Amino acid sequence: MQISIAPKSSGIVYRVACQNVGCSHTFDLSITAKRAGILASTMACPRCRRHGGILKPAGRLGDKVFSAKLVFKLTGVVPTLDEEGDLLTDIN
Ligand SMILES: [Zn+2]
Repeated sequence: MQISIAPKSSGIVYRVACQNVGCSHTFDLSITAKRAGILASTMACPRCRRHGGILKPAGRLGDKVFSAKLVFKLTGVVPTLDEEGDLLTDIN
């Protein structure tokens, strides 16, 4: 008689590579049907703790193992100091 509890065959694993500059941390993320929603939401990198990461599937590595990238959207914080400096230079 065999009793199977939480078979490991359920779900898949994403091998996620953080794309945050200076981090590049790689970690395994288990995705089961119950956690599938995480693919549609944002998450934080467990190493650099940067929030707002989005999983982008990047191909298949093996049986139930997939590669993915944790990418971060630009949040609109664009350095404009150079442009402002140029403007000031023009005014002077
Ligand atoms: Zn990271």
